[in-house]
Amino acid sequence: MNIAPEILALHADMRHWRRQLHQYPETAFEETATAQLIAEQLQQMGIEVHRGMAKTGVVGVLRRGNSTHSIALRADMDALFIQEQNHFAHVSCHHGKMHACGHDGHCAMLLGAAHYLAQYGCFDGTVYFIFQPAEEARAGAHQMIQEGLFEQFPAQQVFGMHNFPDVPVGHFAVKTGAMMASFDCFEITLNGQATHAAMPHLGQDVLVAAAHLVTQLQTIVSRRINPADPAVVSVTQIHAGNTWNALPDSAVLRGTYRSFKDSVRTQLEQSIQHLSRTVADSFNMAADIRFNPKNVGYPVTVNTPNETASAIRAATAVAGSDCVNTNPTPSMGAEDFAFMLQQKPGCYLWIGNGSSDGGCLLHNPNYDFNDDILSLGAAYWVKLVENELLC
Ligand SMILES: [Zn+2]
Ligand SMILES: [Zn+2]
Repeated sequence: MNIAPEILALHADMRHWRRQLHQYPETAFEETATAQLIAEQLQQMGIEVHRGMAKTGVVGVLRRGNSTHSIALRADMDALFIQEQNHFAHVSCHHGKMHACGHDGHCAMLLGAAHYLAQYGCFDGTVYFIFQPAEEARAGAHQMIQEGLFEQFPAQQVFGMHNFPDVPVGHFAVKTGAMMASFDCFEITLNGQATHAAMPHLGQDVLVAAAHLVTQLQTIVSRRINPADPAVVSVTQIHAGNTWNALPDSAVLRGTYRSFKDSVRTQLEQSIQHLSRTVADSFNMAADIRFNPKNVGYPVTVNTPNETASAIRAATAVAGSDCVNTNPTPSMGAEDFAFMLQQKPGCYLWIGNGSSDGGCLLHNPNYDFNDDILSLGAAYWVKLVENELLC
């Protein structure tokens, strides 16, 4: 590994920030203490700080030289609604909330890079450090863009990084094109007619219809989508009824669907609509279908070729070419960084968090970001900036 000694010297600070954030996790749009810690640190580094975009967003601006070139680096700040099951000293103090996706590490690595760049950085242009809220299903990136992120901070390129279990420590993985899937939710309400459980013929049984619908929905990927195109449909909730001897008048099914192509995404949506209507109709009842009722659907995370080449160059410079996988299997998980990639050319890369043994899998109650990779992540950011904003 090729990491500047000044970055290695920041490791203890980064670990301290990371563990503090881990201990006090905050969920979507409530990252006030997190934003405070980040803003204070950036200010101490002499970096211009802007706060309040998408409620808790923080953007640091660092200018050097006369070049009009600019680059944005993004970290996400939010935690998840998961009860942590770890027992180490920095375990979450907030009941039911934890950093199970490693966003604590993302913030610490970007702060470490900001510290180095402010003090020693050799570049000509502007760096925007974007700390965004609400990545987990609440589309904080989309919210910042809606509030004028790229009008106020007109970066020419945007880069993101996520820790990734089962990519070895010291390694990166990145590719041109789709890295992460699109993400959408659906809610189907079947409206029948309640009746006595002993007299089903006098009503319309939404439970039998719901059971048929679940199995029908599982034919979308297997029978309607081209087998060469990855896609997934999962029903994750069924709510109906509250007693033993009466049939309810409605059932609610909720779930998610994901894919790597806009055309497949549209096909999934249309198929869910079609099957819900026809199954309901076959039971003589109505289906009310809503997409993304509580969130904004996430588009596919698509890396542009030039920026992916830049990311590979920077990752190779710090980790060595043997440690950069340039053809990883894309993930069916999703990322709201996809919204930023719809606005600007850019690249989203994975930094290895090491083995997922012992519960170290994203969104697991035993997850913990690996502090051993903090310096490598910060070194990647620094190299990327110095390569892109050559002085
Ligand atoms: Zn996550
Ligand atoms: Zn995440």
